[in-house]
Parts: sequence; C-alpha cells; structure tokens
Amino acid sequence: MAKLNCAVCAHQAAHQCAACRQVAYCGQDHQRQAWKKHKKMCKILQTIQQGEPAPDQTTYCGLCGDADGPLRTTLCCGKTICADYGKYVPFSYSKDSCSRNHDRYTTCCYHFNEKHTGNWKTCKKCASAHEAEARVWYGTNAFNFMGEILPNPPSFVPHTCKRCSRTIKMNCEGIARLPNGAMLCEQCKY
Ligand SMILES: [Zn+2]
Ligand SMILES: [Zn+2]
Ligand SMILES: [Zn+2]
Ligand SMILES: [Zn+2]
Ligand SMILES: [Zn+2]
Ligand SMILES: [Zn+2]
Repeated sequence: MAKLNCAVCAHQAAHQCAACRQVAYCGQDHQRQAWKKHKKMCKILQTIQQGEPAPDQTTYCGLCGDADGPLRTTLCCGKTICADYGKYVPFSYSKDSCSRNHDRYTTCCYHFNEKHTGNWKTCKKCASAHEAEARVWYGTNAFNFMGEILPNPPSFVPHTCKRCSRTIKMNCEGIARLPNGAMLCEQCKY
C-alpha cells in the first residue's frame, strides 16, 4: 500500500487505523480526534475488504459513513455526502459539517470553484496554488473521499515555531507569520 499522511494534519503518519488500514495518523491525538467521523466509515471499509456486500455508495456519506441524516451529491465530484451545512456554527472554525469540509478544505472543490479544466489531481494550476504543506493537506485530508486522494503527495519540511521550536501543524492550528517569514505557533502568537 502507498505511504499515507496523517488524515488530520497531513504530517508524516506513525501508524494506520488497525481496523481498516485505509487511513493513517501521526499519533493518538489525531486518531482520537478523527474517530467520531471515521467510526462508521471504518466499518464500511472493513465490510468491503472482507468481500462482503457493501451498501450502495449513494446511501451513505462517503466521508463519515452516516446513512441516517439527509444526503446530497457534491457538485465538484458527484459523490454522496451529508447535507449538513446546518451543523456549522458561524465563526466557530468547527469541522463538523462534511459538506462544508469538502467544499472548503479540498483541492477537489477548489479546482471546481476556480473553474479549472481536467482532473484536479493532475492540475498544474492547483499544484502551484498552495505551498507544499497546504497542498498535501488539501489533497489528502479526511475531507477527501476514499480512494480519491492526491497520488504521490510531495514531501515537505514542516515549519517550526520561532519562539518555542515546536513543529507547527500549519493546517490544524492558528499561526502568525512574522514580517521576515518566520512563524509562531498557536500558543506563542499572542
Ligand atoms: Zn496528525
Ligand atoms: Zn479505520
Ligand atoms: Zn458525513
Ligand atoms: Zn469533490
Ligand atoms: Zn485545478
Ligand atoms: Zn511556539
């Protein structure tokens, strides 16, 4: 199997989900954080792996596996997803809404909104739109559909905080950029 990045932060993964082996995480923190949205999907992935009949893909959300709530079809890629924009509390930065997450935090939808042509995975405009860490995250995070992630994501050197030297997970925390280009982590920026 191809090397996977952490499904939450896109940094180097330390281990895979032991149950489905289809997603990976940098550590326990991010695995725990992702579990609420991965739990049902994990079951479906295991069913498919065991060769048992899987539910029709149009009957559940391709991100979280939920089959109980209202569903819609994405405009960018025609996949079934929770119709759950109502779950997002404005200005909360919460990542509870599957629809909002796919629309805002994936190259798939960015490519569609920017009206690029061809497939986003091979799109040169998308490739140069973000710096490497953001590019890998937008292309491989858990807001992308299974089997629809950026193939061979580029490797990147994570930024470190200028003040405390901690590794910054740029896509998961609030950062501050200093005029000289250096970065401060969420804890140091105030
Ligand atoms: Zn992570
Ligand atoms: Zn799993
Ligand atoms: Zn969902
Ligand atoms: Zn899409
Ligand atoms: Zn594009
Ligand atoms: Zn810091």
